[in-house]
Amino acid sequence: MYRQVPAPVLKIIDRLEKNGHRAYLVGGCVRDLLRGVVPQDWDVATTALPSLVQEIFPRTLPTGIAYGTVTVICGDDEVEVTTLRRDGIYRNGRHPSRVFFGGDIGQDLRRRDFTINAMAYDPRQDELIDPTGGLEDLQAGILRAVGDPRVRFREDALRMLRAIRFVGQLGLEIEPETWQALCSLHTGLGRLASERIRPELDKILLQGSVASSLAKLDESGLLGLIFPPLYSQNSYPLTVVFRAAGLLPPVLHLRLAGLLVGLTDVASLLKGLHYGKDFSRQVGHLIKHLDTISKNPADPASLRYFLSSLGREKLTDLGLLVNSLKEAGGWSRGEGTEIQKRLQKLGRLAKEDFPLSPAQLAVDGSDIIDYLELKPGPWVGVILEQLWL
Ligand code: ATP
Ligand code: MG
Repeated sequence: MYRQVPAPVLKIIDRLEKNGHRAYLVGGCVRDLLRGVVPQDWDVATTALPSLVQEIFPRTLPTGIAYGTVTVICGDDEVEVTTLRRDGIYRNGRHPSRVFFGGDIGQDLRRRDFTINAMAYDPRQDELIDPTGGLEDLQAGILRAVGDPRVRFREDALRMLRAIRFVGQLGLEIEPETWQALCSLHTGLGRLASERIRPELDKILLQGSVASSLAKLDESGLLGLIFPPLYSQNSYPLTVVFRAAGLLPPVLHLRLAGLLVGLTDVASLLKGLHYGKDFSRQVGHLIKHLDTISKNPADPASLRYFLSSLGREKLTDLGLLVNSLKEAGGWSRGEGTEIQKRLQKLGRLAKEDFPLSPAQLAVDGSDIIDYLELKPGPWVGVILEQLWL
């Protein structure tokens, strides 16, 4: 493992040790090293207090100083250095009321969420520290909470979402007691701010295994807390939208559109989850147009109107959504083929150089008024619209 650790990370650990402190790699990076995968980010745990970490290294950021985390900048690399800690009581199901710095690495590892994430690596001794059997679980493909899963999910409900994320990401099975606790405590997710839920949800949506992860979110009850309208006003069966999401490329707005395609007012739903305004509108826009193209007549004038409202550049996304929904069984074979035909017509139309709105016509309102020698009025707009279509 030693050889897989980048030099700047080793340098940070060396420097802490030379200053009389212990320092280890911890969490996801150790898990990934053991899987033979290059870690995305590197976390170091140390006995040094945050103030000392800030003193030892010239360039730092106080990223999560209240919880003991300082980001150390080393060239282009950023390493999160966190002081070993024990967590105080969790009062609100989100985070500890206070943290206590100090203790040993074993204690620090036991406060972590899952056994596979609760390992440390000491590169100076080339030693793995694994007090909860994380390596064995990793090799057996098992996701298991550290300690009593009911206690751990009550402390921080986000761990339930993380469980489903890791299972999908790493192709694991959830250990039965951990799964039972998750299902019975799922309502705890309601206590979390959507700012914390969203990043984990996004990671789940971008996985290759999104369809089965969504099925687990459904089975556990978590999905109903995140997207209640999926259960009250969905015009497609859940199995269909899960499959559709899985058939779409791993692009967030497309995967969300696949999942939420049977709902109305998707933009408000997403804004409520703290997705950006433009992003939420974009997903809502796509779904609205899918609904229109699947129901409305396909005469040339309607198609032109449709294309100008959709926007030529959105046609590829709509095509992907239509194909995924057809393949997922959202329509009868005949319906699906008919909708795909409309899309092909739209594709041909999009290549033609026609005006996308009355404003792009070669004539404007004053031309018409001059030509007819009549007084201006709302009738001008009506004529322009007729000319355009
Ligand atoms: P990724 O590879 O996606 O970054 P990760 O395991 O590194 O996965 P992070 O969110 O970066 O996940 O967290 C780093 C480590 O911090 C985890 O491996 C885990 O040990 C611990 N951790 C993170 N969130 C929690 C939590 N909510 N409860 C307990 N421990 C947590
Ligand atoms: Mg990480």
